[in-house]
Amino acid sequence: MAAVRPATLTPLASRPSGADIPTMTDVPHPRLSTLSTGLRCRCPRCGEGPLLTGYLTIRDSCPACGLDYSFADPADGPAFFVMSLVGVVGMMAFMAFEFTVHPPIWVHLVVTLPLLTLMCLASLRPFKGWMVSEQYVHKAAPPEWASLGGHGTGTGPRGRRPD
Ligand SMILES: [Zn+2]
Repeated sequence: MAAVRPATLTPLASRPSGADIPTMTDVPHPRLSTLSTGLRCRCPRCGEGPLLTGYLTIRDSCPACGLDYSFADPADGPAFFVMSLVGVVGMMAFMAFEFTVHPPIWVHLVVTLPLLTLMCLASLRPFKGWMVSEQYVHKAAPPEWASLGGHGTGTGPRGRRPD
């Protein structure tokens, strides 16, 4: 039976400078809650660095841990979810307001419409952060397609070449 030797650790002082010292990107990070990091618009890996610059623009990388944000592409997902959620919740509130108070139409134009707009604008950033965090945790990537060949060059439906 071969003896198992424990791995030896080299003290930092005797290591060659910069050769095998782990950088911030090599340090393993514990998995953070996607809701916690996403809704706060923070980095999905470290939970500290900001994810967005401006209103909805995703940064190139995390200023705290250096995570490359190039994987992040939620496309129009946040807009869809915000539109759906605000549509349902906002319409329920609108209908409750309409059927209980019976306000004139100008009240809806002055109160309801700006409220719906504000709800959408306030929800977009957290939803975008949440979706980017979910992409990071689930390692979502754009689809990669493999060619099955052109007409007459691939295999048939039963795995044999068509005649
Ligand atoms: Zn980070």
